[in-house]
Amino acid sequence: MKSKEIRQRFLDFYKNKSHTIVASAPIVLKDDPSLMFTNAGMNQFKEYFLGNSIPKHTRIADTQKCLRVSGKHNDLEEVGKDTYHHTMFEMLGNWSIGDYFKKEAIEWAWEFLTKELKINPNHLYVTIFEGHKEDGLEKDQEAFEIWKEIIDEKRILLGNKKDNFWEMGDQGPCGPASEIHVDIRSDEEKAKVPGKDLINQDHPQVVEIWNLVFIQFNRLASGKLQELPAKHIDTGMGFERLSMVMQGVQSNYDTDVFTPIIAEIETITGFTYGKDEATNIAIRVIADHVRAVAFAIADGQLPSNTGAGYVIRRILRRAIRYGFTFLNTNEAFIYKLVKTLVIELGEAFPEIKKQQHLCENVIQEEEISFLRTLAQGLSLLDQMIAQSKGKTLAGTKAFELYDTYGFPIDLTSLILEEKGYQLDEEEFKKALQQQKNRSKDAAASTTSDWVILREDDEEEFIGYDYLDAEVKLVKYRKITSKKEGEMYQLVFNLTPFYPEGGGQVGDKGYLKSPNGDTIYIVDTKKENNLIVHFTKQLPKQLEGVFQAFVDTKQRQRTACNHTATHLLHQALRSLLGTHVEQKGSLVRSAYLRFDFSHFSKLTDDELQQIENFVNARIQDSIPFEENRNIPYKKALEAGAIALFGEKYGDAVRTVKFGESMELCGGTHVQNTSEIWHFTITQETSVAAGIRRIEAITKDEAKNYLTQKATAFDEVKTLLNNAQDPIKALGNLQDENTLLKKEIEGLKRAQAKNLKADLKKQFQPINGVNFLAEKVDLDANGMKDLAFQLGGEVDQVFIILGAEVNGKALLTCFIDKKLAEKQGLNAGQVVRELGKFIQGGGGGQAFFATAGGKNPQGINQALQEAKSYL
Ligand code: ATP
Ligand code: MG
Repeated sequence: MKSKEIRQRFLDFYKNKSHTIVASAPIVLKDDPSLMFTNAGMNQFKEYFLGNSIPKHTRIADTQKCLRVSGKHNDLEEVGKDTYHHTMFEMLGNWSIGDYFKKEAIEWAWEFLTKELKINPNHLYVTIFEGHKEDGLEKDQEAFEIWKEIIDEKRILLGNKKDNFWEMGDQGPCGPASEIHVDIRSDEEKAKVPGKDLINQDHPQVVEIWNLVFIQFNRLASGKLQELPAKHIDTGMGFERLSMVMQGVQSNYDTDVFTPIIAEIETITGFTYGKDEATNIAIRVIADHVRAVAFAIADGQLPSNTGAGYVIRRILRRAIRYGFTFLNTNEAFIYKLVKTLVIELGEAFPEIKKQQHLCENVIQEEEISFLRTLAQGLSLLDQMIAQSKGKTLAGTKAFELYDTYGFPIDLTSLILEEKGYQLDEEEFKKALQQQKNRSKDAAASTTSDWVILREDDEEEFIGYDYLDAEVKLVKYRKITSKKEGEMYQLVFNLTPFYPEGGGQVGDKGYLKSPNGDTIYIVDTKKENNLIVHFTKQLPKQLEGVFQAFVDTKQRQRTACNHTATHLLHQALRSLLGTHVEQKGSLVRSAYLRFDFSHFSKLTDDELQQIENFVNARIQDSIPFEENRNIPYKKALEAGAIALFGEKYGDAVRTVKFGESMELCGGTHVQNTSEIWHFTITQETSVAAGIRRIEAITKDEAKNYLTQKATAFDEVKTLLNNAQDPIKALGNLQDENTLLKKEIEGLKRAQAKNLKADLKKQFQPINGVNFLAEKVDLDANGMKDLAFQLGGEVDQVFIILGAEVNGKALLTCFIDKKLAEKQGLNAGQVVRELGKFIQGGGGGQAFFATAGGKNPQGINQALQEAKSYL
């Protein structure tokens, strides 16, 4: 069965069991500080499990793009070495949010595998949670009883906390799990070692395919488990592993999910998959990593030097390095695989199809630059080896390579080994650990558990309509970080504060406590579905009604920049084309920044047109029109622009200014005229195929223009207050050109005089006209002069010297026939005379030049020239 069909069968199966099929959430997470990437299907439903939000549907199924390369679930180092862990993989999942529980979850999973897909039940094993004393948890007897009705008791195994108690991260929803494992070994193998002995033993053909998690608890910051108000089901099945089982192969990489990519790698590199293990690993690494990187880029995460971008960069570099070391690839090639990915996955994940070119360009550029780094690192390593005493390279040196050149340590080891050297690995590890500690200290923040003051179903955002409000504190917690020190996060029943999102900064402002204290809100952010207000001081009095005030000035300036961003987006798409897509946006009170896909630098003319386009719309005084609750599909049909990598619900908000219409949650002006003016301050490149425009509006734009006008006034003053400064400047330039011409004419006349003078100074020696002179000319001047003299005087041997910018120059010209007849060679002459000026040179037999650093030696060189005759 083709993998495409397997995916569809799964979704259809659960659809028939009244599940709503939803789209995969983006692989890059935006408002969850505890996770960088989606690492399980349940991430996007976390808030439902915790009861922070109320779901529209209680039965959901999907296939979710997951990435396990950081945090609690990090498989990166295993990927490629084994045959069933990927960085990016699809997780098929079904969820019950307070709806059905263990019985249905187990029975349906079994039905799907054994009836729908007809997997032989004799190849399957299941595990249940054995309990855990410290957490006060008992064996999952309920799951055991259900399984006993379905499967031979001998096939039910007990699993420990590590394998059978699922947790997303250090905190959050969790619960006991029941896993389904499959044994795909041959009957012969099975006869030797029974499958049950190989469960959870990292055997490549006895693997877990499906995990059914019974979400019952919330893991608190303190480590304690808190019983959840409702019970939920969260299941996850590895799509690639299921395909392996269904296609009767022994490795995920032998399924049709990977074979087309591998075939392409074979074609490009000339290496064959399946011949030797080092090659196999390299090919698997590349086939796997290109998926992770392309999907992350398509969801808006470009490789960079920090955070999630750095993780993506490291994954790509790992692939490049495996290719470089094991497949002899020293040119960019991974980007070429995107095409195949699009053919295979473009239907299930249209974002990758839509953004093929961007993915290709970004990957190619990264490859080229890292290959350059590798080359630099290699030569630096050679130097280090040459300089090192004995046969061991210092760990600090290897760390320098790793840290400043991104040079992977295993590559360093490999090269050292080839050259008969060793690495001081302990020292390297120490240096690495020190660096880790440094960055951990800087970035780490710990949060305490929420202190709940009142039960409130959902926090309401009223900031579109109000800039102040009476609010009540629902819960708070302390957050401690090295960078910010101690802060508190406050959550209210309702709030006028806009939380950072969609590129727009969070609101600042203050609270008036019931007891009259003022508490400053320094930032507002969204964490999952909660709006969290940051403050340095916890209110002394927690109960009662607070007056909340948003900083209106900042809000108004930010709104101008946000609306201007939409107009800019519209301008780019109308003037440059609809290939322009938003790739990043920052809306602050002082300025806006907009990144978008476009393949060439914008010309001054284009920038001017864009400015004009936006300013025309500002002058048109276009009113703000919003629709806060429109079905997603309807909004798109109406022409609203949606962004890749953004998670949209069924109902969305549209923001419209005339022809510009976007899905947006941000705050805007009521009329474009409030923006006053829009000025672009900078246009740069961010990555291959991505440009960045920075711009300002309102006061900032006005100040900017005023400054320009002031500078212009100063120029006017310098031009003696000319009536028409532009004309005056033009006149000055014309005058300048004339003066330059005049000087050149004078120089030429001077040279003529010089030539006439020198012609008189030739000395006849043995039938040769000899001239040795120091002149006040540059290299070209000397050359001209020598050629002119040579053309006008017969049988010449000319040697000229000059001092230019503290350096010595020599020029030698010998009549061609004379050179031949007497065996003279100008090149040799200057080479030998070069020693007097501490330099050297060369050229042809009749003309040559030399340069040196000692002008004092010029006279001596000229005198010595005579000796050649
Ligand atoms: P394993 O022990 O094999 O690493 P896991 O316990 O980490 O699996 P879960 O977190 O329960 O896996 O994820 C649910 C399912 O997703 C697994 O049963 C498996 O089929 C699949 N899966 C997990 N990690 C990966 C991965 N790195 N690559 C491919 N599939 C995976
Ligand atoms: Mg795992």
